[in-house]
Amino acid sequence: MVATLTEEAPTGYRDVAISRDGQGHYYASFVYEVKEETHEQEGVLALDLGIKTLAVGVNEQGRVYHIGGFRGNTWYNKQLDKLRSKRSKCKQKSRRYIHLSKVYKRVSQKKCNKQQDCLHKASHLIAHTLVESTVVIGDLSQRQMVTKEHKERNKRLNRAVFNDWGLYSFVQMLGYKCLLSGKELVVLDERDTSKTCSRCGHQQAMPLWKRTYCCPECRLVMDRDENSAVNILKRYFAWLRPHMEWTSMRCAGVFTATDMC
Ligand SMILES: [Zn+2]
Repeated sequence: MVATLTEEAPTGYRDVAISRDGQGHYYASFVYEVKEETHEQEGVLALDLGIKTLAVGVNEQGRVYHIGGFRGNTWYNKQLDKLRSKRSKCKQKSRRYIHLSKVYKRVSQKKCNKQQDCLHKASHLIAHTLVESTVVIGDLSQRQMVTKEHKERNKRLNRAVFNDWGLYSFVQMLGYKCLLSGKELVVLDERDTSKTCSRCGHQQAMPLWKRTYCCPECRLVMDRDENSAVNILKRYFAWLRPHMEWTSMRCAGVFTATDMC
């Protein structure tokens, strides 16, 4: 039997492992050495891992990055729901039931693959394409506690945050990709970063449905996630240089990479 690779194998690999998933797909994993990139570059990128977009980043120059995740989840979930309800009308272990189970498995595998692919692309962009040498993100374990309060009221949105983007595997990918590219990944406590005004420090409740931060004190109007990202960046600098006032926030433009998938 002859197998062809969908991508070219890396040059000079040392080892190769062949694995097979439940659907009978074969995967080849190559082990090879990557020369650590020299990191003369500097700068900090703060990321708010989000609800509407996968990640919103801001750097010291005030440049904003919107990094989108996989957008097909709603479509896939609808298909999967349809399949499940069709299957529930069949007699268990009948031919149709078994057929629908197979289709279900295949579709959900496909959804999973596409989502992982998007997360790989997004984390690759952050770790290998963007120039900033330090990446700062919020601690997700804190967030789960916060959103528990909203859970009953907003189950659907919660599902969007914790299941659909796959933020946990995204953070893992970011971790090892930053390591490979010689970047530093810093995880900060992100408590109150979405509630606080990034200009004057005023705090107000920000339920998940509020997409824009409007400050009643200093009249700041800003995208919710951008505001949080700026707060994360500020928090990082406060932690790094506690005696310095950080004021160099300019708005230099918005970079959008929302349609990667
Ligand atoms: Zn304010």
